[in-house]
Amino acid sequence: MFNKTMNCKTCRDDLQNLLFDPSAPENAAARAHIAACFACAREFAAFESTMSLLDTWEAPEVSPYFDQKLAVRLREEQACPAPGWFERIKTRLLLNTGRQLRPALAGAMALLLIAGGGTVGVTTWQRAQTVPASATVNDLQILVKNEQALQQMDQLLDGDAPSSSTSAPPES
Ligand SMILES: [Zn+2]
Repeated sequence: MFNKTMNCKTCRDDLQNLLFDPSAPENAAARAHIAACFACAREFAAFESTMSLLDTWEAPEVSPYFDQKLAVRLREEQACPAPGWFERIKTRLLLNTGRQLRPALAGAMALLLIAGGGTVGVTTWQRAQTVPASATVNDLQILVKNEQALQQMDQLLDGDAPSSSTSAPPES
């Protein structure tokens, strides 16, 4: 019948290879097995239909107004931060440098950066609280600064202590 080393298990390991290069000589054994084994043939057909479905899928176009809409959303979020909740995260961020909180710290930093949009952001965040974010130019600058801010966050997370130069406690 078919190749002795090719059984259902080894065949299924080869299915992806077979899918991407059906005519390759090294896939001959798998092809032969599929021709003779109904279960594996069905498995392969399922793979094929999944792949062809993926082929028809197209990533949606990014809206030309994505940046503007994002800026508006940021402004809305700045306008109404959840009271208490934001304060808690800020406190935690400032007081806690323990390693066990690093993941939480990263998340909180990301939130602060998104909301404050600036250099590791508590001071920027506070300014956003006092100055109503009305300038569109400001919002666009936020987007530009995000790259820079993310780099700073990386440095912050890599180091043992938070960088004191970029995130001085606003009140003490
Ligand atoms: Zn089989």
